[in-house]
Amino acid sequence: MKTKKDPDVLVIGGTRIKRGERKKLQLEVSTLFDYTELKIPVEVIRGKEKGPVLFISGAIHGDEINGVEIVRRILKRKILSKIKGTLILVPVVNIFGFNNKSRYLPDRKDLNRSFPGTKKGSLASQMAYIFMKEIVSKCTHGIDLHTAAVHRTNYPQIRASLDDNIETEELAKEFGAPVIINSKLRDGSLREAARKRNVRILLFEGGQALRFEENVIQVGLKGCLRVMKKIGMITSRDKYQRKPAFIANSSYWVRAPHGGTFSAKVKIGNYVEEGDTLAVIADLFGSSRVEVVAEKSGIVVGANLLPLVTRGDAMFHIANFDESKKVIKAVEDYFED
Ligand SMILES: [Zn+2]
Repeated sequence: MKTKKDPDVLVIGGTRIKRGERKKLQLEVSTLFDYTELKIPVEVIRGKEKGPVLFISGAIHGDEINGVEIVRRILKRKILSKIKGTLILVPVVNIFGFNNKSRYLPDRKDLNRSFPGTKKGSLASQMAYIFMKEIVSKCTHGIDLHTAAVHRTNYPQIRASLDDNIETEELAKEFGAPVIINSKLRDGSLREAARKRNVRILLFEGGQALRFEENVIQVGLKGCLRVMKKIGMITSRDKYQRKPAFIANSSYWVRAPHGGTFSAKVKIGNYVEEGDTLAVIADLFGSSRVEVVAEKSGIVVGANLLPLVTRGDAMFHIANFDESKKVIKAVEDYFED
């Protein structure tokens, strides 16, 4: 990639980092009621040789912490002493939400709907602005790590808009999550703002909020390392071999047709056919039962784990593939061996 990025001296939040240096720094974002300063912790690792500039960020939604652990595991890798280019690791972007075990900022704003942000806007807008200015705009590539929202879980998946660039598609496949969802950009998301600045960005989604889930962490960790290899940041004899990745071109949410308590009949990663029963909603006495059925066949890539619903609540997220049974089996069996 031809770019002016990766300069001899990179400056982030006033800290100067030369080629070959590895530094921790703190990005000042705000102050709490008690005057405690709030800062986003960042670690920057620069190779001696020029190359791609990649950021990997976790917890833009403060309670989505699988990514925090993925970043921590990347930081322990010995290979980081031999990278080409610059790696910027941000384990927790929404430091407020993280400390409050919450997705949101104290003003109930969603940071991932506040990009690119403004210098003098709301707290969320200012945080987004600082993150864009100091980190994202200095990068050629990015990986943003998420989980499902609270009380939900996601089958590990990459979300990317594949129509904009062939490199994005190649990177999405290289990441090697069981499913790639070709999804439109959301207004105000980091993904949209990064793309407008010509930063190739992948969004990884896996597991639940407020948990460390080893299988998800492994998919995310290996995926990040494979992307680093693919963009020429690391050369490693480790193969980080991946399974084939399959692209879903559409997906839909199955919503509760009735309020009540429900028992699920399927799990994330399962294949379902049109008309299959996904769950049964019952009243408190068990005398009334409503079946929840799949409208179209596909793989369950997201599910509500809270067995209490009111009509219209999202229950299952199903991704549709134009693929053979063999492919469906490969997606279903991803974690088998
Ligand atoms: Zn999220």
